[in-house]
Amino acid sequence: MKDLASELAQVKTVAIAGHIRPDGDCVGSCLATYNYITAWFPQTEADVYLEPIPNIFKFLSHADRIHHTCESDRTYDLCIVQDCGDAARLGAAVKYFNTAKKTICIDHHVSNDSFADENYVFPEKSSTSELIFELIEEEKITKEIAECIYVGIVHDTGVFQYSSTSARTMNIAGILMEKGISYTKIIDETFYTKTFEQNKILGQALLNSRRYLENQVIAAAVTKEEMERYQVLPKHLDGIVSQLRVTKGVEAAIFLYENEDGSWKISMRSNEKVDVARIAVKYQGGGHVRAAGATMEGSSQEVIGTLCEEIEKQLQREEPAGKELCQKDSDTQEESWQGAGEA
Ligand code: 5GP
Ligand code: MN
Repeated sequence: MKDLASELAQVKTVAIAGHIRPDGDCVGSCLATYNYITAWFPQTEADVYLEPIPNIFKFLSHADRIHHTCESDRTYDLCIVQDCGDAARLGAAVKYFNTAKKTICIDHHVSNDSFADENYVFPEKSSTSELIFELIEEEKITKEIAECIYVGIVHDTGVFQYSSTSARTMNIAGILMEKGISYTKIIDETFYTKTFEQNKILGQALLNSRRYLENQVIAAAVTKEEMERYQVLPKHLDGIVSQLRVTKGVEAAIFLYENEDGSWKISMRSNEKVDVARIAVKYQGGGHVRAAGATMEGSSQEVIGTLCEEIEKQLQREEPAGKELCQKDSDTQEESWQGAGEA
């Protein structure tokens, strides 16, 4: 696939979908595509399907048109899935993917298994939003489209901080700035601003945190009861794992929150050595080398223990991160892990 325009020239109806629990890159990239179609392909009918989005992204153009349920049984000419590494992560919108005449996946997850007809997948890229920028004509990027792409890049790079940020990413950000967007306001209001309740739960998570493996790993869990006490939802917990990661001396950070059914949603981050995507994939999750997630069962201490064991294996082997990614774990060494559960 060389650009979106040639794909759109042949179709009348398009469904756009992203991953469950949509984040900034998912919302930004999906709305960028939607706004591009509505602005430049008026004959094409497009629908965006995403789970409810965080309030901070609702200022983006046409966020109010996103379908949060998938009641219609429409069959689309084309289904474009974005920022999603596997079909299971599409949630209810998977039905539009399964029935569409053609499917395209635009993504940057290293765990992506090329599940669409056409796969535009570049794991080294900062964000799906950066890929969308590459797929549409620069002169057709309106201020509204620029805002969507900028939000996606800012969120997936931690404000241009992560190693996935390239010179090209910065170059694109510069072009977007010239489209007249409020770039400082976007960073402040969508990335740094937290509600009072979010700051409280961050404080609680930091109080709950403990270090393992000679302080190379930090982990914290928040329970359903704590989330109720501070009146926060899962979507309000973004950023906690990032704060854990910047603890001095730490290589990897693990953050867990309890799901309704008692299982744990895991977020992992690493600094230099650990390939957290490889661990997440082993537990049916996915993500990137330095940021990945999964869902796991057991007590929080058991889950932290299991993940520390995986991290320890990588630290002991001192394997360059990224190697053997997504392959089945062929490790036969049964190293016993000690440390989780200890003070
Ligand atoms: P986060 O920790 O911020 O939720 O996610 C970090 C990265 O891992 C994101 O790119 C996200 O899409 C991916 N990720 C998180 N949880 C899962 C999961 O359960 N399955 C898959 N496939 N990817 C996940
Ligand atoms: Mn992304």
